[in-house]
Amino acid sequence: MPVKKAHPEADDPHGDAAAAEAGVGNGTAADDSDLAERESRWNYALVGSSLGVWDHNYRLDRKYYSETWKTMRGMAPDEEAAGDYDAWLQLVHPDDRDFVVHAIDRQNAGDPDYQIFEYRERHRDGRWIWIECRGACVEWDEAGVPTRIVGTDTDITARKQAEETLSRLSRRLDLALDISRIGVFEADIEENMVEWDERLMAIYGLKGISRRNAGEIWAKSLHPDDRERVLGLVDRSVASGSNFQQEYRIIRGDGTERIIRASSAYFIDGNGRRKVVGANWDVTEEVALRNELQRAKDLAEARNRELEAAKASIEHLALHDYLTGLPNRRYLDKMLDERSVECRAKGLALAILHIDLDRFKQINDTLGHRAGDAMLRHVAGVLRNSVRAADFVARIGGDEFVILCAVDAASKKVVGLAERVIRELRKPVRYEGHDCRFGASVGIAVDSGPELDAKQMLLDADIALYRAKGLGRNRFEFFSASDRRDIVSAKQLADEILIGLERNEFVPFYQLQFDARTLDVTGVETLARWQHPAHGLLTPDRFLDIAEDLDVVSTIDALILEKALADRKAWLADGLPVPKISVNVSARRLADPDLGKKLRALKIPPGTISFELLESISLDDCDEAVTANLKKLRKLGIDIQIDDFGTGHASIVSLLRLSPKTLKIDKELIRMLPQSAEQRKLVGSIIDIGRSLDILVIAEGVETADHIRILEELDCDMLQGYALARPIPAMQIPSFIRAGSWRHGENAARIARAELRRALTGRAAK
Ligand code: C2E
Ligand code: CA
Ligand code: CA
Repeated sequence: MPVKKAHPEADDPHGDAAAAEAGVGNGTAADDSDLAERESRWNYALVGSSLGVWDHNYRLDRKYYSETWKTMRGMAPDEEAAGDYDAWLQLVHPDDRDFVVHAIDRQNAGDPDYQIFEYRERHRDGRWIWIECRGACVEWDEAGVPTRIVGTDTDITARKQAEETLSRLSRRLDLALDISRIGVFEADIEENMVEWDERLMAIYGLKGISRRNAGEIWAKSLHPDDRERVLGLVDRSVASGSNFQQEYRIIRGDGTERIIRASSAYFIDGNGRRKVVGANWDVTEEVALRNELQRAKDLAEARNRELEAAKASIEHLALHDYLTGLPNRRYLDKMLDERSVECRAKGLALAILHIDLDRFKQINDTLGHRAGDAMLRHVAGVLRNSVRAADFVARIGGDEFVILCAVDAASKKVVGLAERVIRELRKPVRYEGHDCRFGASVGIAVDSGPELDAKQMLLDADIALYRAKGLGRNRFEFFSASDRRDIVSAKQLADEILIGLERNEFVPFYQLQFDARTLDVTGVETLARWQHPAHGLLTPDRFLDIAEDLDVVSTIDALILEKALADRKAWLADGLPVPKISVNVSARRLADPDLGKKLRALKIPPGTISFELLESISLDDCDEAVTANLKKLRKLGIDIQIDDFGTGHASIVSLLRLSPKTLKIDKELIRMLPQSAEQRKLVGSIIDIGRSLDILVIAEGVETADHIRILEELDCDMLQGYALARPIPAMQIPSFIRAGSWRHGENAARIARAELRRALTGRAAK
């Protein structure tokens, strides 16, 4: 601090600083050296302590400023300090200026309160430095006015900054604690004293806790159920000097229960005292939320488990047959892939047994579905018991089952298994007092090697099954490659049939029918032929079964009828009235509910067309559609003819209900006529029945003159057969009839008969 111009007239910048600082005057030489030593000691001490010394002597009007005083302000050590009070005051921080003026006055006045004060002054480099100014009056004039004031300035900028930082930090901490509602305590373990802050008391709902009994109050606040545990933990952490972290319940001053999270740290303070500083905060909401989340999570997990179970059961349902509990078709498909892979990998053969129950339908039909279900369950049990654990049994349809097993390629096990299954399933099963008997046919496919294709094998097993059934049931058959060839060609033929229908390749051939006595033409039977582009003319035995599978026989029947009607017209135009045309009608067509409508559309002249119905498709239990159609046929003037008569098992009575116009005796019965008297008797009685019921009788398969003769003798009405005419295309009919060549056959018969008679009479004459 420069001098205040209290006595400007006494201004003397050349004062004796050392003397002033040492506070001593002149003396002897010994005194001098003593003095110098003391002075230098002082100087060093002052420099070392960073104190800048100033000395204002108003009486002598001298001002002195030490080097440190100058350097702390950024002045050079040898720079002259002007000592101009006003100029100096400009360097004081504007906010401090009034205070400094006042403080200097008070210091000069010897006010002990102002012996030390702090203020800011501008450093030469422009920044503010904090200065702590200490001063004291050392001399007064007679009137008691201070005449000399001596003091020190200390640069306390660093300390001020530290203080500022500290207060900023503590402000920040306070704010943080305030915002996060964290209460803080500090405990002195030796003294058994605890200091709580306001927030901690608020958390516990307590007011004014004395340092002496805070610990006790805290222990009382603990929830009784938690108290022992928490106090134990605290004791242990104090004893071991370790940190403490806990969550516990308290009962607040107002009686409410809260959950507190506590965290505390153990330390030893500067005085070597063991202390604990800690923080508590209320986590009731947080814990509630956490519990809520946990509950939700538990719930979700439980639901997940339920879903998993539901999913598993849905999957099980999707892959199993509800009735027998066996895997179903879908499961089998999956398994086929798995087992192929497995067999390929292990070098094993895969065997597929396709099992189909025989006569199962009868059980269903006669004893009802419950009996059927019971049988299926029984079968499932038998199959399960017949296989090894590693084998796979599935029910893939109504009464169809499949077994998959991996076997050694050379093993005969499969045969054993098939035999066992057939044997077991043959045994009668008791159901509600009935012995149910059925059986099983088994088709087997076995394959191995890298090309193994289980899906194909399943088809193969099916083909083999088909053959087993065809060969008489209750047996097993292995698949053979020729089976597959047959199937493949049938498949090809099926495709070709459909194409042939589109291309109009199906045509009627006509086989003439004759009066047995006169051999006049009485009618024709239409017979379907397929003009195949590659194989030539095909007869029904080549395509009818497949057409049946394709469900197109009705279509063929219809188109044959249409063409026959057209041909009939053409023959008429040609002057050749053919009395009657008979067409073969399949069972499917006869059951077609639209048959009547379709026939009406054809505008068939009544009495010109006859429908040949197979005896087997008639009649014992024909359904309503068939009965209705038969009625319509009669209304439309279409005759009904029973085809292949004598081969079926239809009762005469049921045949009569159809009121047929004609019975056609099957060619099997005709063939043996010459050789078999029994056959002759049978055919004779059929003819008699027809006669008595007013039904015409026609014989088919008339191949020889003998046939013609015998049938004439038996009084048959009409004849059809190769002996008289073969099936021929429509265009050949007129010329055939005009040529009348079949009558040569008649002649031949007559000659034969005459010969026979001659031989007999000749023998008799002998
Ligand atoms: P089906 O109705 O019993 O026809 C008679 C079959 O015997 C015909 O064979 C005919 O060619 C043959 N046949 C004629 N005379 C003789 C003979 O003296 N000896 C021998 N052994 N056979 C003779 P096809 O034409 O091969 O017909 C076979 C079967 O196909 C027919 O038997 C019939 O059931 C069926 N069919 C033929 N055409 C049709 C049709 O348009 N619709 C339907 N649904 N079935 C047809
Ligand atoms: Ca026929
Ligand atoms: Ca026939």
